[in-house]
Amino acid sequence: PVLPVSSLSNHLQVSTQRLMRDLTRLGFKNVSPSYLLTFEYSSLIAEEYGYRVHTDSTSVASPQKPKSSQANAPLRPPVVTLMGHVDHGKTTLLDALRKSSVAASEHGGITQKIGAFTVPFDKGSKSITFLDTPGHMAFEAMRKRGANIADIVVLVVAGDDGVKPQTVEAIKHIQSADAPVIIAITKCDRPGLQPRKVIEQLMNYGIQAEEFGGDTQVVSVSGKTGSGVDELEAAILTLAEILEVRSSPKDQLEGWVVESCVAKGVGSLATIVVKQGTLSSGNFLIAGNSWGKVRSLLDVNNKRVKQVIPGQAAQVLGWKELPKAGDHVFQVKNESAAKEVLADIARRNGAQELYQLAESHNKQLEEQRLNSSETLESIPENKSEYFNVIAKCDDTGSAEAIIDFFKGLRNEDLQTRVLYAAVGPVTETDIERAETSNAIIISFGVPVPKATFREAERHKVKVLFHNIIYHLMEEIRTLFRERLPPVL
Ligand code: GDP
Repeated sequence: PVLPVSSLSNHLQVSTQRLMRDLTRLGFKNVSPSYLLTFEYSSLIAEEYGYRVHTDSTSVASPQKPKSSQANAPLRPPVVTLMGHVDHGKTTLLDALRKSSVAASEHGGITQKIGAFTVPFDKGSKSITFLDTPGHMAFEAMRKRGANIADIVVLVVAGDDGVKPQTVEAIKHIQSADAPVIIAITKCDRPGLQPRKVIEQLMNYGIQAEEFGGDTQVVSVSGKTGSGVDELEAAILTLAEILEVRSSPKDQLEGWVVESCVAKGVGSLATIVVKQGTLSSGNFLIAGNSWGKVRSLLDVNNKRVKQVIPGQAAQVLGWKELPKAGDHVFQVKNESAAKEVLADIARRNGAQELYQLAESHNKQLEEQRLNSSETLESIPENKSEYFNVIAKCDDTGSAEAIIDFFKGLRNEDLQTRVLYAAVGPVTETDIERAETSNAIIISFGVPVPKATFREAERHKVKVLFHNIIYHLMEEIRTLFRERLPPVL
């Protein structure tokens, strides 16, 4: 089942505006009130708002039930990402941090880049998981979402270069995601450094250092010599304790893909950072547009494990298709559930594309209208001069055909406008929108329940149901002619 944002906001008793803002912050793109969410996403979001979701029922959330108390959940290792301007020393610092992890781990020696590594402390009773996005491409792709995947962001600023455009960009992401941040002033082995200047620059962007009465820790480090690396790790652990980074291994699984590749002889492999719940062998997972049954789990040291708990990363084998870095991971019951959710996601993506298609079609029409002074004079700014349509279809192909058909249906007195076209049944939101914009609704290939017809009638909205495109066109042409102003 899928749910438009507008209905989820009703369920959650929050405004659609607020939900759209939060969804955007969570990494959803081009969110609109009709944006479709899968059941899994809706459930995760409902939990964000403090609801407990019953997966056995068809309702998304039962309101007024508070979230399982996060406060009682155990502390977990914080997930940390590094951000900053190119050449400011992220890679070098990550190498220094990784070295401390290798030195601390029993394996030692081999360091491989799998997208994340964990540094243990106090004989493993505490640890930090660092996201290690190799290369600038991957970093670019994940940067916008990085602040969501991570609990803490280390903003790397070279002491000899100061705040630069990508530093500012990173600050914007950090602030819009409300992510806790620690400043690492790098290259502190170089002579003539002025950390104070960097701190002052950062203040202009709303980052207040502790030593200036603010609450942001600032650490001077050198990735080259390793000085300050211990202090940085200590600062991260302190912040994690203050933030009370907690999550229960019993919660619903949530994770993120941080790296993926096809490995010779083993197949598709994805490194997943677990943020909540427990990842186990045999689990059915969805990540982006792919699903898989966990065939085997390898920890960050390449050791086979059975389970991965929150705050840790692991390499997962068993994907049908290769997931991408930045994909959100969640668990489903079985193979058929996985396929159903993916079909929902595909439909949603299709709907999103169609929405954009319809929008560009309308923009085109608008431009044509503005470019033609003749038409401009003959079409007064009056709602009735537009023949507005909302199209709900069984698949993207038929929706495209409908949009194309409407492109050709216009004259100087009346022009058609597809407000939006989407895959799925006619919803209450569609009816409400049709009412406010004086539109008719077309349901093509998706049967319309009697109740929907009745609801539409109450709102004085016309709903047409057709299975055959020629019949639909015929009826539309008739309606179009009826709407034309009388010839005098
Ligand atoms: P990134 O683009 O942020 O990943 O930056 P890199 O880690 O690749 O570093 C860019 C350049 O700065 C390289 O030539 C590094 O050797 C140098 N560099 C990085 N960190 C330090 C440091 O702590 N001290 C010194 N002296 N040079 C550094």
